[in-house]
Amino acid sequence: MSAPLRVLLIEDSENDAKLIERALRRGGFDPTVERVYTPQSMTEALDRQSWDVVISDYVMPGFSVPAALAMLKVRELDLPFIIVSGAIVEQTAVDAMRSGAHDYVMKDNLTRLVPAIEREIAEAANRKQRKLAEVISARLVRILDNAQDEIYIFDADSLRFIQVNRGACLNLGYSQNELTAFTPLDLQPAMTDEKLRTLLAPLVTGEREQVIFETAHRRKDGSIYPVETKYYCSNNEHPVVYVAIAQNITERKQHEAALHFIAEASSVLAGTLDYDLTFQNLARLAIPYLADVCIIDTLEEERVIRRIAAHMNVTKETLAQRLQEISPDPSRSRPVVKVIQSGQPEMRENVPDELLEAIARDNEHIELLRSLGYRSHLVLPLVARDHPLGAISFISMESRHYTPRDIVLAEELARRAAVAIDNAQLYREAQQALEIRDHFLSIAAHELKTPITALLGHAQLLQQRLQRTGLFQDREYRMLEVITEQALRLSSMVEVLLDATRIRSGTLAMQSTIFDLARLVQRVVGEIEPGLEQHILHLSLPNSPLLIRGDEMRMEQVIQNLVQNAIKYSPEGGEIDVRLEANDGRACISVTDQGIGIPAHALTEIFRQFYRADNANTLHISGMGLGLYVVSEIVTLHSGSIDVQSIEGEGSTFRVYLPTLESVPLN
Ligand code: ADP
Repeated sequence: MSAPLRVLLIEDSENDAKLIERALRRGGFDPTVERVYTPQSMTEALDRQSWDVVISDYVMPGFSVPAALAMLKVRELDLPFIIVSGAIVEQTAVDAMRSGAHDYVMKDNLTRLVPAIEREIAEAANRKQRKLAEVISARLVRILDNAQDEIYIFDADSLRFIQVNRGACLNLGYSQNELTAFTPLDLQPAMTDEKLRTLLAPLVTGEREQVIFETAHRRKDGSIYPVETKYYCSNNEHPVVYVAIAQNITERKQHEAALHFIAEASSVLAGTLDYDLTFQNLARLAIPYLADVCIIDTLEEERVIRRIAAHMNVTKETLAQRLQEISPDPSRSRPVVKVIQSGQPEMRENVPDELLEAIARDNEHIELLRSLGYRSHLVLPLVARDHPLGAISFISMESRHYTPRDIVLAEELARRAAVAIDNAQLYREAQQALEIRDHFLSIAAHELKTPITALLGHAQLLQQRLQRTGLFQDREYRMLEVITEQALRLSSMVEVLLDATRIRSGTLAMQSTIFDLARLVQRVVGEIEPGLEQHILHLSLPNSPLLIRGDEMRMEQVIQNLVQNAIKYSPEGGEIDVRLEANDGRACISVTDQGIGIPAHALTEIFRQFYRADNANTLHISGMGLGLYVVSEIVTLHSGSIDVQSIEGEGSTFRVYLPTLESVPLN
């Protein structure tokens, strides 16, 4: 198949044109030929399309080879240009070649034309490629030279810089000449010759393709900035050279420091629920990262604003503390009050003295602010759950420009701080509520104890007297019995309340005697059993006494409580198993019932004070949720433990484990 060829033919003779076209076809081309013979028509042809080759006659009345070549040059067209001429003087041909023609062929020897075209097309393609490569490499050199990264090529042996880019010069403030007298050691204050060679050794051996490490560069003006440097080795050059590309990582370091700061702030702020400690931590966190002095103002009830301050400079710490005692005057202390009211931050890079006067309450306050060296501030609102909590002020002793990053960071700190303060405030309120509750319960229990004891005593006395005289009717005696029973119930409720109060205040006292747990369990069960109508009690005891050391009355309370619960929480009746066993130096009292059981989610909760499972409430089984709390405390004070197994609707087993005194002989 013939190769297509777009030929621009500069030829005034149509016959010659035909001859040439024929020669081309014969030579294996499928030419599209456009014949031109004036500059005008050549211009049009060049503008219209692109061409593979220009073939030109030499002698033409209205046009010339130099003119045609000039037209190509103006357009920066590098096309094969072949002269086909009837007669050409050698010198003319040489001149034409000089001004850009590529070859010339005699009209009477057209067989040379095709090979010449083929050769020149290949040459033109080569030239094009070379030019492209040159453009690319020039561009690369330009890019590398202008890159912000510092690029160094240095001798692997002497470590002397051979070449450095403009980026390095700009970053360091040295000229190219100055730098080429250096080695990397002149730039890296923390590097030694030995260390650098050790680090780069794997590059020479081929063990590693690149070595990366972080270090610092020192500028000509002495300032230092962090860099990450990648080193490569160019083994195929003689002498062997290293290439180092260093990137200024100040931004990255700042970003890392900011993240670290926020992470630390989060953990410090989450570390305590103590209101005052939260403030102290917060103020100290901000220094010196965000400020020299940090002041926190909070809105308290009645709009009292308290100030917590921290200072980086120990000698000024006392000044800061004095500042802490001066609450801002709502009418004067503009930045803080304004920020709290508007919820908008306020930043001042330079606080003039007049503003200090405006901020200060009185002369002493102004003096204090002046001695601190108050120069700039960033005040941010503290807001949580849409409520203003106060403001945090970052104060610097020199005019400080807060970058957008600083502001974002300060805002983030303020946001987290507000949450921490809010939590601490809520926690403090919850603690106060608990204290009030405990205080109330303690007073109520103490105050109830005396009248109940009197009530019970008199009711019992009356019962005995009536019994002795026989002057009563059964109904009246029954009524007295009810009074005694209910007074007893009240009394035991008050006792539990008192016990709970004692536990909280750490005053629940334990006697320490040695007693037989088996006899105790037997007695307690024996006392409860006669009153049971719907329940059957099974008791299983060891064959021999089981001695423990502890408070017998308190232990009685434990057993009674568990058995009474077993009865109370089996409202339909059923069997109750009370079992005492000894194993591995431990006594185990277990009480099993077939009652309402305990929902799984409540199993870990029932030993907490005032906790009652839902099913106890739904079934209207009365109780205060204090019995197990007291029981578990008594057991703990006996160095024992208590656990429970239960399936809701099927029943429960409570087990109390106590250390035994197996070796102690019975009296
Ligand atoms: P109270 O019985 O006064 O509510 P307790 O401290 O003795 O208080 O018990 C706490 C809670 O544990 C009870 O409210 C009840 O929900 C559950 N509970 C205790 N013992 C049993 C039991 N044997 N069966 C089912 N639930 C029980």
